Amino acid sequence: MRLVVDLNRCQGYAQCAFLAPDVFTMHGEEALIYTPRAGEAQREQVARAVAACPVQAVTVDWADVPVAAEEAGGHGR
Ligand code: SF4
Repeated sequence: MRLVVDLNRCQGYAQCAFLAPDVFTMHGEEALIYTPRAGEAQREQVARAVAACPVQAVTVDWADVPVAAEEAGGHGR
């Protein structure tokens, strides 16, 4: 899936980083770093993060399926 965080809207509440640490990471107090392409393994985490974001800053294109090589997020490389 492909995801986009509206960083103008994001208030750095870190709900997403707490619920989907594979995909979202807080850098310092307020800066959010995230992986724009996530695989099936992260689907549940991402769904929880989207639902939990208090300002609905996370948008996900669930239909965007990465090719297998990308899906694991670079495991073993
Ligand atoms: S939960 Fe929403 S507001 Fe909080 S850091 Fe994540 S995207 Fe930003």
